[in-house]
Amino acid sequence: MRAIFDDRQWRHDPKHFMANGAILPNPEQPARIDILRTGAQAAGCVFEAPADAGLGPIAAVHTAEYLSFLRHIYPRWQRIDGAGEEVIPNIHPANRSDGYPKSAVGQAGYHQADTACPIAEGTWEAAYWSAQSAITGADLVTGGERAAYVLSRPPGHHAFADLAGGFCFLNNSGIAAERLRAKGLRPAILDVDVHHGNGTQGMFYRRGDVLTVSIHADPERFYPFFWGHAQERGEADGMGANLNLPLRRKTDDAGYLKTLDTALDRITSFGADVVVVALGLDAFEGDPFQGLAVTTPGFARIGAAIAGLGVPTLFVQEGGYICDGLGDNLTSVLSGFQGA
Ligand code: ZN
Repeated sequence: MRAIFDDRQWRHDPKHFMANGAILPNPEQPARIDILRTGAQAAGCVFEAPADAGLGPIAAVHTAEYLSFLRHIYPRWQRIDGAGEEVIPNIHPANRSDGYPKSAVGQAGYHQADTACPIAEGTWEAAYWSAQSAITGADLVTGGERAAYVLSRPPGHHAFADLAGGFCFLNNSGIAAERLRAKGLRPAILDVDVHHGNGTQGMFYRRGDVLTVSIHADPERFYPFFWGHAQERGEADGMGANLNLPLRRKTDDAGYLKTLDTALDRITSFGADVVVVALGLDAFEGDPFQGLAVTTPGFARIGAAIAGLGVPTLFVQEGGYICDGLGDNLTSVLSGFQGA
């Protein structure tokens, strides 16, 4: 399987995030890259660098206002007297329809949903190339490949059209899906990350031409809390084109695979002719986030079930954090897909 990664994706090296009132090391570490690359290579992936398709395919799903913010906020932040080394918000608008300030602090609060997406010197460059990797991956599957893997890091599925959050800045899976739609295809996004793909849902919520399906730990008691509930089905033209399948904490392989069948049936009913898998590996029983309890062999069964759709498939890396098993889980899902 062909795989895409650019060395400039190393340049995002976040230091901090806040959880439960404590300032902790940020878990979305560049060291994930080597673990995931080794795991993909063990499944037969051969890596290449992306082309540069420019900002157009990114601006097709993100607002120009937000992209200006991401490109320029770091040097602006550094001009604040006594500013910290990373852009981290400390105030948010009560409603997103509230005013849009000129201040760097105010704009950070507007465009960053939480403290888990600090922006530093290399963040824009890394996020840009992570998105370009996803765009090149989309072009591979329209060019005749049965499947491709994108090591998109930083990840993307918590990023909305104009809002970063949860380690994410540019929504790589959403950008890839829009690229496929623009080529006349009918894409479905299947998000198997343990966290609800709230940014992706938000991006396509009023559209009926891209199906969004997410299987995740129930947000009643799990990040991202405010999205991912079963009753969120879409709006306007998108009504019925969003499917959320929240699971009880610690759901095992059997429970997960049964729910995956429901997801795959919806993708078939949508008439999808290509699928983008938002491939979080943090549903793993050993993942630090401890949401679900999928095993390493369980990931192979997930890969095999996705292959059963019989359509070109783009795997876009989302979450999955450093623990024993992270690389093996990627090997497992890609090998399970290819062996089916
Ligand atoms: Zn996740």
